[in-house]
Amino acid sequence: MDDRMTNTTMGSLRELQKLDDRIKEIRNEVSLFDNRLAMVEEPALKLETELSQLRERLSQMKVDARRLERAADDKRARVDKMEARLTRVSNLREEAAVKTELDLIVKAIAADEQEALHLLDQVKRSEVIEGEIAGRTREARDGVGPQQGALLESREAFLSRLAELRARRLEVLEGVAALQRRVYEAFYQSGRTVVVATLFEDGACGHCFGVIPLQIQNEVRQGEALVRCEACGVILTTEPEPDLDPSLTEPLPGTLAEDLGDSVESVDGEGGAGGGEDTAE
Ligand SMILES: [Zn+2]
Repeated sequence: MDDRMTNTTMGSLRELQKLDDRIKEIRNEVSLFDNRLAMVEEPALKLETELSQLRERLSQMKVDARRLERAADDKRARVDKMEARLTRVSNLREEAAVKTELDLIVKAIAADEQEALHLLDQVKRSEVIEGEIAGRTREARDGVGPQQGALLESREAFLSRLAELRARRLEVLEGVAALQRRVYEAFYQSGRTVVVATLFEDGACGHCFGVIPLQIQNEVRQGEALVRCEACGVILTTEPEPDLDPSLTEPLPGTLAEDLGDSVESVDGEGGAGGGEDTAE
C-alpha cells in the first residue's frame, strides 16, 4: 500500500461526500418526523391534561359539598337536643341562653346549606364542561393514531435508507487509505459542506471559482497528492463525480422537508439544514 492519490481514491472521496450529504439530509428528515410526531399528539395531550385537572377539581368540590351536608346534619341533631332542653329549662335566664345558642346554630345550618347548594351548582356546570372536553379529547386521541401510523411508517423508510447509506459509506471507506480517510473525516466533521471539488479545465476551483496556480493545477492533474485550493480549502480533483447507486437516491414517500404548506413552519425552523448537531457522528 502506498499513499499515492489514485483516481479511484479521489472517486471514493467524491462518493463519500455525496453519501455524507445524503446522510445529513436523511437525518434532518428524521428529526422533522420526530417533531411532527410530537406535534400530532400535542393537542390530545393538552386536552387530556385539562380533563384530568377538571376531574380533580370536580371530585374535590363533591367532597366539600358532602362535608358541608354532613356538618349541617350534625348541627340539626344538636338543634333537636337543644329543643328538648328548652322544655326542661328551670328559669328565664337559662331559656334565653339556650335560645341564643339555638339561633346561632340555625343560622350556621342555613350558611352550610347555602354553601353546599352553591357548590352543587358549580359541580353541575363543571360536569357539563367535563362532558364537552371529554368528547373533544376522545376525538383528538382518535385522530392521533392514524396520523402517527403514517408518520412512523415514513420515518421507518427514512431510517432504513439511512442504514443503507451508512453501509455503503463503510464499503467506500474500506477502499480509501488511512491518511486520505483522516483528511476527509477531519474536513467533513469541521462542518465543511464541500470537501472535494472539481478542478475545471480552465484552472478554476469548482467550489470558489478562484484560479488555481499552474503548478498546483499540474499536481492535481497528476493525481498523486492531496491538493487543496489555497482560497477555499477544498480538495481538488479532475476525477468526475460518481453517481450513487440508484437504490440510494430513489425518493422516499412522505417526505416532510419540502412540505411547507401547512403548519410545519416552526418545525422547519428548528430542524433546518446546517444545524450544528448534524456533525455529531
Ligand atoms: Zn476554492
